Amino acid sequence: MYDKAMLKKLDIPALPKSRNEDAYKDEEIGFIARSALAMDRNLLIVSFYERGSAANGFPLPVAVLYITKTEYTTRLTKDGSQCWRTGTIRRVLGLAQIYTGPPKVVCLRDSDDDRIRRFLRTDRAKSHGKPAGIDYYIQDYQHTLLEKRLVQTHALKRQAYETLMATVPPLPESFDRWLDNGPLKKSRYIFYKRLNRKSATGYCSHCRSDTPVDVAEARHNKAGTCPKCGSPITFKAVGRSTGLIDMVNTCIIQKTTNGGAVLRYFLLIRDYRTNGNGWQPECSYRNWREYVDEPARLLLDESGKITGTYRCRYLPMLHGYGYGHCRDKLLGPDRNYYKSYMGAWGGLSINIWFRPVQLYPYNLRGVLQRYNLSFSLLQDIKKRQPLDVTTYLCQSIRYPVTVTFEKLGLSRLAEDMLIYGEVPHVYHPTGSLHRRLGISKEHLALARKHDFTVYHLNLLTSSAVKPSLDDLLWLGDQKVSYEVINKILIFTTMHKIRKYLQQQLEKADLNSYYLRYGDGSPAEILAGYWADYLEMSSTLEFNTKKWRVLFPKDVKDQHDKVRALVRVKHDPVMDEKIRKQYPTLDKKYSYGNDAYFLRPPMNFDEFVEEGAELLHCVASAGYFRGHVEGKSYIFLVRKREDPDTAFFTMQYNPQTRIVNQLRGYKDKGASEEVVSFRDEWLASMGVVPAKKAA
Ligand SMILES: [Zn+2]
Repeated sequence: MYDKAMLKKLDIPALPKSRNEDAYKDEEIGFIARSALAMDRNLLIVSFYERGSAANGFPLPVAVLYITKTEYTTRLTKDGSQCWRTGTIRRVLGLAQIYTGPPKVVCLRDSDDDRIRRFLRTDRAKSHGKPAGIDYYIQDYQHTLLEKRLVQTHALKRQAYETLMATVPPLPESFDRWLDNGPLKKSRYIFYKRLNRKSATGYCSHCRSDTPVDVAEARHNKAGTCPKCGSPITFKAVGRSTGLIDMVNTCIIQKTTNGGAVLRYFLLIRDYRTNGNGWQPECSYRNWREYVDEPARLLLDESGKITGTYRCRYLPMLHGYGYGHCRDKLLGPDRNYYKSYMGAWGGLSINIWFRPVQLYPYNLRGVLQRYNLSFSLLQDIKKRQPLDVTTYLCQSIRYPVTVTFEKLGLSRLAEDMLIYGEVPHVYHPTGSLHRRLGISKEHLALARKHDFTVYHLNLLTSSAVKPSLDDLLWLGDQKVSYEVINKILIFTTMHKIRKYLQQQLEKADLNSYYLRYGDGSPAEILAGYWADYLEMSSTLEFNTKKWRVLFPKDVKDQHDKVRALVRVKHDPVMDEKIRKQYPTLDKKYSYGNDAYFLRPPMNFDEFVEEGAELLHCVASAGYFRGHVEGKSYIFLVRKREDPDTAFFTMQYNPQTRIVNQLRGYKDKGASEEVVSFRDEWLASMGVVPAKKAA
């Protein structure tokens, strides 16, 4: 497009001073247009005047459109200032949503109309049976320009894309053979049928031929050998394995022609299903199908940096499927976030880049050589398959020192870095080994002796308080992170943290969903709940110095209850009602003996505190509503000797004069003493206690 500063200098077609034309008076018209040509008739300028203000003599247009055979732009005056717009004219003028009715934009003179039409090469046409407004002609023209431009951008993108994908070499010839003999080796079956007591017939999926089967050999799911091709197979009784399907994730790393590498991920499916497959009713074990899918590609440059993540999807520029760039972030501090995601059924799935895969091994030497990596990695990869190859390869390129760690006896550290993508909190890329890890020589010796993990090292370098060796070893072995420990250290000591976590871990059900699928080791998850709970507790101004508050019996349980309390926001209206009610209730119901007393809560916060201290639902379940409505009162039962600490909470129905609930810490029932105190209180009001109450 022409330079905008230059466009601004051009004269814009103005309205004549006299405003006598009929168009000014027609209330249905929104804008009046005038036109002019410039730049050797290569540029059309159309100015749009708001009809109402123009009729009153206002001289300036609201919008000026500059349009050539290839481009357009509009200068819009809005709220007194000017801006450039790239939208089509109807959008810019705010007419995009108006489809019917008389023209909203008209030209002042027929000569304006003719000029515009000649430039756009359009005939006088009709819209909805009426002469179309000039805005429609301009918009149509703008749409054709847009389409032309889109085709051009697609062509450019397509060229860049094809150049990039051409750097990916074809698959090695032995790839298919490897799939068959490696990852899919177990996917070989003989489907057998017993003919009579002595004979059976089978069909081998590997050599795809019928074969007699030894009756004594053939047992469902038993391993055997195909008499025809000699391959190891698994027997499957016909009719008993109708839903058989094998799926394998594999990967191949190849050198690209531009000096980098590409990781290509494959999903292989062998489908032996013989029923429940509506779209292919003819399917049987004899015509089993194989699907090979390459859902993703990851490109690395010569330094090992990820240059692009590509997933297979529909690409408009190709008018078909191809590898579209996606912004998945695989490295960096928030990498873990991308490692898994919640699937459609609420289950946790591993993101495609981090799935454990079988890696094609025969071309790896070349790839490792390209990145100056030790060949010992090759052995390691082979040993560990299936493996998250993405993390393994990217980390070994970033931290070649891991090979040294392995040799020095720091194999767990190497594993944390290569397999799990963890990196020590303190890490310097150069210098002697202990300096790189930010520890002393003595600590390095200790680390080698006990085969430290990243977690051990982080505790040494990042905690304000230095742990004792025992605590360090335990916490590091359990993979508890220093971030969580530091949060808890505000409240207690390192030693007590270790003791408490140990005790919680022993009690915890390791099969529970939150421990199995949470982020981190079970001890780390429990520590996380604890830290979170303590933080909420101090927000709620609980006394975290108290043993019971600091070391709850069941940390997950306690965490969930306190979180429910945090959700109960302070309610000033409710607070006011509770305060107003207090004197009356106090006068009528408050009671005490030598050991205990009871009273109504004084304000809203007391409700919350009661629930939080005793961990029951008095606040979170909203019992305060019944309390202020007078349907069921809540009373606080306390010990004389400890009047400020929550003890028991009572729910009393004034209509039936029955105590519905009397609950203590974690919804516990009352002791005999407390029950007799309750009865004493009821008797003082002339109520004979019902036997089943509480
Ligand atoms: Zn066979």
